[in-house]
Amino acid sequence: MTTRLNLVILGKQGAGKGTQCKRLAERYAIPHVSTGDMLRAAVKADGPLGREVKSILEAGALVSDELVNRLVVERFAQPDAERGALLDGFPRTLVQAQALESLLSDDGVKLCINLDISSEKVTERLSSRRVCQECGAIYNEHDPEAISGTCATCGGDVIQRADDSPDSIRKRLETYERDTAPLLNFYRERGLLVTVDGDRDADTVNAAITAVIGERGLA
Ligand code: AMP
Repeated sequence: MTTRLNLVILGKQGAGKGTQCKRLAERYAIPHVSTGDMLRAAVKADGPLGREVKSILEAGALVSDELVNRLVVERFAQPDAERGALLDGFPRTLVQAQALESLLSDDGVKLCINLDISSEKVTERLSSRRVCQECGAIYNEHDPEAISGTCATCGGDVIQRADDSPDSIRKRLETYERDTAPLLNFYRERGLLVTVDGDRDADTVNAAITAVIGERGLA
């Protein structure tokens, strides 16, 4: 079996994980696996899973480990994940990180990038963030696509996420500190953690990440 490039992108909400993963997925030809996107798609489809998680997402709380782990197992069973994946928003708890280790076994996570950014900056970014409901493209409230409400890439509706409200942002940051920040140590202890300053423009952050991937001989 060929070696898989499994990369975990960690960071607070709004650190730029989605933006960076989209670019990296294209560059390294591996899928961008975002559990948040998967869950939002389920909510939009309004099936049993979507109805189960809708209020949890809106409140900015975490969906159960069991449910998210199951989604990821199913996603990794698809053929395009054979070469690896860029994991965005997963793992988010130690239980999920352990589940990922078991799932990937020997061919595990090769690198964990921690996109570092202050909570003040996160609040500023999330309050002005707009997203395409169809393709997930990310805009700022001042972009023409956000003003017109139409995505330049796919023509989908550009909206403000329900969980980008001030209350929800506060809740999500608390959840990050409590449940997700311990993962930094988890990956540090395994020699896999590299911290990148996320408070820079997307091109600069992208160059920093690809440099690390190159230095580590991963691609
Ligand atoms: P995100 O787009 O990654 O910010 O995720 C949006 C929301 O989906 C989160 O606030 C959670 O409610 C839920 N979610 C996404 N990924 C996970 C995960 N790995 N574990 C639990 N809940 C998640």
